[in-house]
Amino acid sequence: MKQGSTQSILRYIRPNSFPTPFCAGCGHGILLGAILRAADELQSDWSQMLFVSGIGCAGWIPSPHFYADTLHVTHGRPIAFATGAVLHNPKLNVVVIGGDGDIASIGGNHLMHAARRDLNMTVICANNLIYGMTGGQVTPTTPPGARTLTTPLGNKERAFDLAPLVAAAGASYVARYSVWHIRPLIASLKKAFRHQGFAFIEVLSPCPTQYGRRNENPSPAGMLRDLRESCVLKERAEGMSAEQLTGKTIIGEFVATP
Ligand code: SF4
Repeated sequence: MKQGSTQSILRYIRPNSFPTPFCAGCGHGILLGAILRAADELQSDWSQMLFVSGIGCAGWIPSPHFYADTLHVTHGRPIAFATGAVLHNPKLNVVVIGGDGDIASIGGNHLMHAARRDLNMTVICANNLIYGMTGGQVTPTTPPGARTLTTPLGNKERAFDLAPLVAAAGASYVARYSVWHIRPLIASLKKAFRHQGFAFIEVLSPCPTQYGRRNENPSPAGMLRDLRESCVLKERAEGMSAEQLTGKTIIGEFVATP
């Protein structure tokens, strides 16, 4: 059986996992598959991996689906619980999976300080620009002008540029990709799983239900097309002017300390 194939990754999924709780067209299903493919291609020792998630749609990626040890904890606190696990057993490969509301908003303080301390864990933040599960409220990554449940006339605040923020806080591996950029995303996940220190991957993941339909883009295919067109690889962006980069999102590796 080929490593990373659909048949090969099915052994990591608990029976009765399908259908998943994600809405049709949600990017989180693609991210779920990418995480499993990365672990499978690395032939990771699943018994030495611990997945930690908080509350939110992305929190359902590992728990209850992964056939592995999982902690499903309180809203915004997965990094705090993961810190306890890492300190208790430094040999564990600890992976936190959550959304932007969970990890960058409620848990933003934990994120900054875990990066500063360069704790040995991987944090995967599925950034869908909104609180999905709790009804579509604004988050710190919601772009200015975007409509959410709590900003019906358009968001008046600036958004965090999450990957550079975590890089500035001191993480030793930082990358950003989208679920459209699946092969570079899997390659980045593999690096993060092997990395010694704090590895952070921001994954742009469309939410057609809460974000798209409020912002005139309810079609999952349309949201994926937007990701394809708005994302620019870091190496290419270096040769572009500020004007050319307006409205674009830079993807790639921001920090890759050996
Ligand atoms: S609400 Fe959004 S993020 Fe949550 S499952 Fe539905 S599409 Fe995905």
